[in-house]
Amino acid sequence: MSPSPEIIWTKLQDGNRRFTSGEPAHPSQGADRRADIAAAQTPRAALFGCSDSRISAEIIFDVGLGELFVVRNAGHIVSDSVLASLEYAAEVLDVGLIVILAHDDCGALHAAIELDSGDAGHYPPKVAELVSQLQPAIERTRLSLAETDNQALTADQVASEHLKDTMSRLLAGSELLGQKIADGKLGLVGARYRLVEGLVQPEVLVGALGQDDGPLAPPPAP
Ligand SMILES: [Zn+2]
Repeated sequence: MSPSPEIIWTKLQDGNRRFTSGEPAHPSQGADRRADIAAAQTPRAALFGCSDSRISAEIIFDVGLGELFVVRNAGHIVSDSVLASLEYAAEVLDVGLIVILAHDDCGALHAAIELDSGDAGHYPPKVAELVSQLQPAIERTRLSLAETDNQALTADQVASEHLKDTMSRLLAGSELLGQKIADGKLGLVGARYRLVEGLVQPEVLVGALGQDDGPLAPPPAP
């Protein structure tokens, strides 16, 4: 029987604690492990996060080969390919947990804030197009901080709102993920990675994870 979402999350948090304390165990990374899993993968968790090179999914959770199914792109922006990858993880690989990982000092959020000024000059067109998904989070953050100008915001101020939007879009985009959560087979953790401390800080828990923040708001229009 698969472990519960709560047990999987506890193990990942244990690994992150080893990483932040500077005493990682580096488990399951040797030739033996490689041979053991060559025939099939059975990861317990999936991770969807930003591509930022200062973050490595397996290192920050101190896990090894075959333990995490990882999907990443700049700014953790939801697309059909992301939804398909996570549905594959949930349905075919039967993972019990998906971690959605935001982080400090995100370049995609910097870009979105900058592009808000109308100066798309030094970003490639595709980047400008993609980060438009971040505008609702920027707008809500500005209103909550009573700022008059989006340009006055920092990426770190917007990160939590963008994390919530990412989770809402995943749930709105995939009936399968929603059903698995309703059945108690899948949990979602929205977390923020702290670059300096190495800490993975949970911000939103959905599903059977000991507490439930309730339904997320519907996804904002891009
Ligand atoms: Zn980033």
